[in-house]
Amino acid sequence: MIDARRCISYLTIELHGAIPVEYRRAMGNRVYGCDDCQLFCPFTRFTRASDEPDFAPRHDLDRAELVALFAWSETEFLKRTEGSPIRRIGYERWLRNLAVGLGNAPWSERVEGALRARLAYPSDLVREHVRWALAEQRHKRQARIVSA
Ligand code: SF4
Repeated sequence: MIDARRCISYLTIELHGAIPVEYRRAMGNRVYGCDDCQLFCPFTRFTRASDEPDFAPRHDLDRAELVALFAWSETEFLKRTEGSPIRRIGYERWLRNLAVGLGNAPWSERVEGALRARLAYPSDLVREHVRWALAEQRHKRQARIVSA
């Protein structure tokens, strides 16, 4: 039995508002969809990767760093997601999802800096997720200092 409201694909693609705080940590670095269930589904688990070029990763998105993606302007987002289903979530939810992924990243000055740079972004939705992510990063930084 699956509660679709907790599905990461739903939370990152279909949900328009804030991602419920109780699910954010469990999302890890999944910033657009998930589909891990396909690995376990009895109908799809034995399939092999397609040679069809249309199914190949585009724009190096399978190797991209979240910090770099978070720095994209809206123009870059629209350009680099041309022809991709990612484009349909729009730039605001793209930043929302990335903020959660960055909040879940191991602490680093670079990640904190990238988040701070978005603190004044003109969207309540984005700013709230950025504040949450910064609190997560600061918590990890302090824990690191205490254990050092
Ligand atoms: S494994 Fe499937 S059902 Fe579970 S969160 Fe991922 S996409 Fe959703």
